[in-house]
Amino acid sequence: MITQDDIDAWKVMYEMTFGDYQTEAQKTAIYPDEHKIVYPALGLAGEAGEVANKVKKMLRDGNFDREDVAAEVGDCLWYIAALCRDLNFDMGYIARCNLDKLHSRMERGTIQGSGDKR
Ligand SMILES: [Mg+2]
Repeated sequence: MITQDDIDAWKVMYEMTFGDYQTEAQKTAIYPDEHKIVYPALGLAGEAGEVANKVKKMLRDGNFDREDVAAEVGDCLWYIAALCRDLNFDMGYIARCNLDKLHSRMERGTIQGSGDKR
């Protein structure tokens, strides 16, 4: 039987903020100081490749396991958290800045197209 405690535990799990995640993830971010920034940047590229590979296999094999892709997305998230830490940014701040940029592009009619400084 599902209890209120179970429901509350799920709510906490799904209401995790980027800051909460970053704090917990950095406890497992163990690599030499001299490899800060480079290590998570390369790891992020590798994990993004793993996401792409899972999707590629969907095209090749005709089946798709969204949980497998989600696990790789989670790996990307870990490297993003580590990279944010190494750059001394809070993940929530990065998320807010990204949304502000996208909203600005929407308002100015430049959401489509290319270029970092639209
Ligand atoms: Mg992975």
